[in-house]
Amino acid sequence: LVSRENHVSRSVVRVGGVPIGGEHMTLIAGPCAVETPEQTLAAARMARSAGAALLRGGAYKPRTSPYAFQGLGEAGLRILADVRAETGLPIVTEVVDAGDVELVAGYADMLQIGTRNMQNFALLQAAGEAGKPVMLKRGMSATIEEWLMAAEYIAQRGNLDIVLCERGIRTFEKATRNTLDLSAVPVAQQLSHLPVIVDPSHSGGKRDLVLPLSRAAIAVGADGIIVDVHPTPETALCDGPQALVGEDLAELADAVRTLPALV
Ligand code: PEP
Repeated sequence: LVSRENHVSRSVVRVGGVPIGGEHMTLIAGPCAVETPEQTLAAARMARSAGAALLRGGAYKPRTSPYAFQGLGEAGLRILADVRAETGLPIVTEVVDAGDVELVAGYADMLQIGTRNMQNFALLQAAGEAGKPVMLKRGMSATIEEWLMAAEYIAQRGNLDIVLCERGIRTFEKATRNTLDLSAVPVAQQLSHLPVIVDPSHSGGKRDLVLPLSRAAIAVGADGIIVDVHPTPETALCDGPQALVGEDLAELADAVRTLPALV
C-alpha cells in the first residue's frame, strides 16, 4: 500500500488543509513539549511569523528517564487546541499509547508516532483507524524497510495519509545526538509514494546544527522540516539545547523559502 509500485505520482497529505508533499516544502515548528499556555502560544507565534504552516508540540512525552517531565497529558492537548484557535495553526502532536489514540485524535490535526514507538504495532493499527493523518518517525535503529513496513501497518487499516519523518539513527558517532541519515530521504521517496520530512532538531540535538541540517534536508529533496522552537530554551522542560529562538527561526524560514528554488 505504501510502496511506489502502483502509484503513478507521489502523494500529498493534507493536514487541516495544509499540504505536505508535491511541490510544497512544509515547515512545522513548535515546542518540544507543551509546558504552559503562555509558552505554547509564544512558540506558536514564533513559528507562524517564520512561515510555519503547522504547530508541533508534545503533550505526551516518551522520555528516556522516568524521572524526566512526561508531558501534561490531556491538559496539554487542551492548551494546543486553544493555541490553534488563537493562531489558526493546525496541530501535530504525539500519541504514545494505543489506548489514548481516540482522545488525542479528538484534539490533533495530525498524530505523531515517535521513534521509540515505530514498531508498536497496536499503536500503529489504532492510529490507522483514527481518521487523522499520521506522521511516522523512523525508529532510531530501524532500517528503511522496517520503517516502510511500519507505515504499512497504518495503511492496512485504511489510512494512507501518512508522512514519513527521518529523525536520525543510532551510530557509533557521539558528536551528535543521532546521525541524520539524509540518504533515507531519496531512498524512501524512491520506494514509497508517501511524503518524507526531516527532523533536524531531534537528530542533531544542538541548536547550531539545526540550520545546516535543514539546508541539507531541503537540498536532498525533503518534503518538509519539523523543528523545535521555544521562547526561553534555557528554561525548557524538554530538549532546550536544540530549540531555535527568534533569529535562528527567521534564518531557517529564509532557507525554506529560497533554497527549494535553487536545488
Ligand atoms: C518529538 O518529536 O517530540 C520526539 C520525541 O521525537 P523522536 O520520537 O524523534 O525522538
